[in-house]
Amino acid sequence: MAEAAAARPPPDLDTDECLREYRHLFSPDILAGQVAFITGGGSGIGFRIAEIFMRHGCRTVIASRNLQRVSEASKKLVAATGQQCLPLSIDVRQPQTIVAAVDEALKEFKRIDILINGAAGNFLCPASALSFNAFKTVIDIDTLGTFNTSKVLFEKYFREHGGVIVNITATLSYRGQALQVHAGTAKAAIDAMTRHLAVEWGPNNIRVNSLAPGPITGTEGYRRLGGKFAEEASQFDTIPLQRAGNKTEIAHSTLYLASPLSSYVTGTTLVVDGGSWLTSANNFPALLGIASSSAKL
Ligand code: NAP
Repeated sequence: MAEAAAARPPPDLDTDECLREYRHLFSPDILAGQVAFITGGGSGIGFRIAEIFMRHGCRTVIASRNLQRVSEASKKLVAATGQQCLPLSIDVRQPQTIVAAVDEALKEFKRIDILINGAAGNFLCPASALSFNAFKTVIDIDTLGTFNTSKVLFEKYFREHGGVIVNITATLSYRGQALQVHAGTAKAAIDAMTRHLAVEWGPNNIRVNSLAPGPITGTEGYRRLGGKFAEEASQFDTIPLQRAGNKTEIAHSTLYLASPLSSYVTGTTLVVDGGSWLTSANNFPALLGIASSSAKL
């Protein structure tokens, strides 16, 4: 069947490299002069969000635990876009590391307009085999990490100047996806946090939204959580748009939420999954086949 232009994916790469070609769909200066702080910005979806934001005039801070990873990512992003990118080491479970990073970012750029909470950990594991510590670790990174980073940004800059927060969540809890009680619970809590903070911080001119991706190619999530397997087993035939998404598609939707195009949008979750969660199968035997090799943290 012919692919409708409105559902045609933009070109992307499966690696953490910058795009070789890019056609602007939004105005190229839509984020001109702004600064985005992106947790998990050194890899996968976060890396592509950083790139697309920089291609739209934004300077970025990319922050995660592995300084070497964010430093190498930053070099690629600067070379491809000509914008500034500051790589910093943080562990979102440790508020003092976030405070230090935000101080450094403000010293460098004097402002932060956008926060993308992308840092997360995930793996497939049946609840019965999940250790207490493994469940806690995912809640710590995803849920507490999102709160910690949002609170530091609020106190250090957004309270006085306003800002935009986009929390990268997931659709796992919508249908109780098997082998994902830890990540589904963590992300559902973040979607709740999105609504609470949108209400409390709206008067400070802060918009807070979630973006929930479906299966996204060229990511750690896709490699670990069986996306390739699902593709080979033709399981994507059941997705309304009949395919996985790519990182640029997530970055474009994040750009919409972070930009003035969505100036009256707050407290919501934008699902970017090709309609996937509506028809996802919860196929236990297939998932358990994958899980036996990946049920570890
Ligand atoms: P990824 O490349 O593994 O991204 C996760 C990032 O989080 C990494 O850059 C990692 O960097 C960082 N991180 C992990 N623990 C951290 C910590 N304690 N403190 C600071 N940073 C930490 O995976 P991805 O698949 O692109 O996922 C990106 C986001 O999209 C995640 O929120 C994920 O849940 C969400 N998502 C992805 C998919 C998908 O299909 N890929 C689907 C739904 C939702 P370090 O190791 O250097 O810390």
